[in-house]
Amino acid sequence: MTTPDGFGRGTGVTGMGRPPLDTGSSTGPGSGLVPGPVPLPAALAHAAGGPRYWLPQQPDQAARAARADPATPPSAPPGGFDVEAVRRDFPQLHRKVNGHPLVWLDNGATTLKPRQVAEAVAEHYSMGTSNVHRGAHTLAKQATQVYEEGREEAAKLLGTQDAGEIVFVRGTTEAVNLVAQSWGRANLGVGDEILVSAAEHHSNLVPWQLIAKERRARIRPIPLLPDGQLDQDAYRDLLGSRTKLVALTHASNVLGTVPPVAEMTALAHRYGAKVLVDGAQAVSHFPVDVTALDADFYAFSGHKIFAPTGIGVLFGKRELLEAMPPWQGGGNMIDSVGFEETSYAPVPHRLEAGTGHIGGVAGLRAALRYLAGLNRPAATAYEEQLTAYATGALATVPGLRLIGDAPGKIGVLTFLLAGTDPMALAGALDQQGIAVRAGHHCAQPALAAFGLQSAVRASLALYNTVQDIDALVSAIQGVQATSAG
Ligand code: PMP
Repeated sequence: MTTPDGFGRGTGVTGMGRPPLDTGSSTGPGSGLVPGPVPLPAALAHAAGGPRYWLPQQPDQAARAARADPATPPSAPPGGFDVEAVRRDFPQLHRKVNGHPLVWLDNGATTLKPRQVAEAVAEHYSMGTSNVHRGAHTLAKQATQVYEEGREEAAKLLGTQDAGEIVFVRGTTEAVNLVAQSWGRANLGVGDEILVSAAEHHSNLVPWQLIAKERRARIRPIPLLPDGQLDQDAYRDLLGSRTKLVALTHASNVLGTVPPVAEMTALAHRYGAKVLVDGAQAVSHFPVDVTALDADFYAFSGHKIFAPTGIGVLFGKRELLEAMPPWQGGGNMIDSVGFEETSYAPVPHRLEAGTGHIGGVAGLRAALRYLAGLNRPAATAYEEQLTAYATGALATVPGLRLIGDAPGKIGVLTFLLAGTDPMALAGALDQQGIAVRAGHHCAQPALAAFGLQSAVRASLALYNTVQDIDALVSAIQGVQATSAG
C-alpha cells in the first residue's frame, strides 16, 4: 500500500518522527530532477545540510512497493530503518582511503562486513575450531550446531521450511556449476535447449556452455529490451518442448534489472523446464521467497550479503536434489563405502563432499541474523529511494550516459562519461576515496547488447547514503572539469 506521497506506509521510512526535509536545492532545466517540492523521505534526509538533489517522481512506485512487501511484519523494530545505526556496525565505512573517507560503491562486487560477522568468524577460529558432524566431542557438537543453524538461517532467508534443501557451496559460481554438472549431465540430451538471459553474469552462462557442449545441447539467449528488461515476447517464443532449463538472474549485476522471475518460471514450468535463479545480486537488496517464485534452483554468494568469501548457498527443491547424482566424491557425502559398492548420504550432504567452510558458515549465520534483525521492508524501501536519488543526481552530469533503466531496478548504476575511459575514471574516483568498478563486470553479453565493452559501475547497499552519492557526483564533475581544463 502506498501513501498519497507515494512513499509507502508501514515501512517505517516515513515514520521516523521527522518531517521530510525541505532543502529546496534548485535543479536546472533538463536535469532530469524534479524541480518542485517533492519531499525526500526522512530516511534519506538524515544528514545535516541535507541532500543536493531532489528525488525524481517514481511512476513505478506502486510496483516497487509491492515487490518490497511494505506490510511491516508485527515483529519489525519500531522506527523503520536507521542507516546511521547500521553504518556504525561497519568499521570499514569509517576508514580513510587516499586521505578521504571511504565511499564504498562497489557492493555489486562484494559487500562490507558488519563487526558481528568478523566477530563470529574470529570466535570460530579462536574458540570454536572443530570439524563438524563426525565428532563425538563437545567442540564438534558446537561446531555442528553453528553449521546447521547457518543452514537454517539460509533456509529462512530464502523462504523454504526445509533446511535439507540448502546445499553449502563456495558461492554462486559453484552453485551453478554443481547444477550443470549434476542435474545437467543427468537430464540434458542432444538438441535440448537451455535458455539463458542476455543479462546473465558469466557464471550463469559459461557452466551451461560447458555442459551443453558435452551433452550436445544448445544455449539460446533471451534478448534484452533497450531499457534492460528481458524481452518477454521473445522469451515466450523461445520456450518450447525442447526447453529443459531456464537460467535467469534475479537482479542483474550490470543493468540492475529485476526480471519477473515468478511469471517467467510459471511459463517455463508449462513446458516442463526447470528454472535456476541467480540471486547473487538480489538477496542483499530485497526479501526473497523461493516458494513464491516456485524456483527449482536458487543460488547466492555469502560475500555479497555481508558474509565472508568462500561460502555460498544452492537451494534446490528436495525432489530434484534427491534425484541428482553426486558431482564430487569424498568424505561427508557417503553412507557406506566398499570397493564393490558405495552408498551416499541423504541430501544436502550428498552434494557436499569434503570438509565445508565451517568458519564461513559461522560468518554467514551471523550475517543472516544481522539482516534478519533489521526491518527489511524498510531497508528495501530506503535503498529504492536512494537508487532513485542516485539516478536523478547522475542525470545532472552532462555527458553521462546511464545504462539500464528498467522499472524496479536495484541500486546498480552503470554509466559512461563522454570522453573518459571507464578505467581512468574509476582510478580518478579512487583518488577521492570512492570505490567503484570499471570493466566488463563479467557480463560481456549484457554490455554488448548496448554496444559496449566496458563501463563504470556504482553499486549501492543499505549502508550507503545521500552523501555518498553527492560525493560521487562532485568527484565525477571534478574529473570532467580537470579534463576540460
Ligand atoms: N551472478 C551475479 C549476478 C554476480 O553479480 C556475481 C558476482 N559478481 C556472480 C554471479 C558470481 O558470484 P561469485 O563470484 O561469488 O561466485
